[in-house]
Amino acid sequence: MKKSISRVYIGLGSNLNNPAKQLETAIATLAKLPDCELISHSSFYSSRPVGPQDQPDFVNAAAQLNTRLYPEKLLEALQLIESEQGRIKKRHWGERSIDLDILLFDSLVIDTPNLTVPHKEISNRDFVLKPLLELNPTLTLPNGTNLQALLQSCPDNQLHLYSGHS
Ligand code: AMP
Repeated sequence: MKKSISRVYIGLGSNLNNPAKQLETAIATLAKLPDCELISHSSFYSSRPVGPQDQPDFVNAAAQLNTRLYPEKLLEALQLIESEQGRIKKRHWGERSIDLDILLFDSLVIDTPNLTVPHKEISNRDFVLKPLLELNPTLTLPNGTNLQALLQSCPDNQLHLYSGHS
């Protein structure tokens, strides 16, 4: 018997090798993943880096998938896309060609060595919250916390809609 369908939100970020194109490629690949259906993706946003400042701005977005994959299998699929798009990790919070994170997986709470869901950065990153809320303005964390409320108290990463000239 197949696993039931789960609603998942994925975070995407890139600041290397034509970031907007990296996001488009990753979204196209997500749409073709087995046992997954891409429902929608947000606009692209541009944000200042959180870590070292001597790196380009990021382009960020979120995507909503319906999937029958188990969380660990979805993580493996995302990591494969990252490596196919040439992701090499240079330094902590540093530049990357593509970063794919599982932000929310139904209302599951997962805490294993490989996987923390909800993603630990959700609550304090406007470049995660804004695209998520664009996809679903009523989203909450599994504990009931409203994402809209989290956005109000979030530090500002100078987020703006990506214009192609960031
Ligand atoms: P990062 O370099 O920040 O993208 O972190 C990658 C590592 O985070 C991987 O080893 C994953 O196993 C781990 N990880 C933990 N929780 C998540 C999540 N919700 N989504 C993606 N990766 C995760």
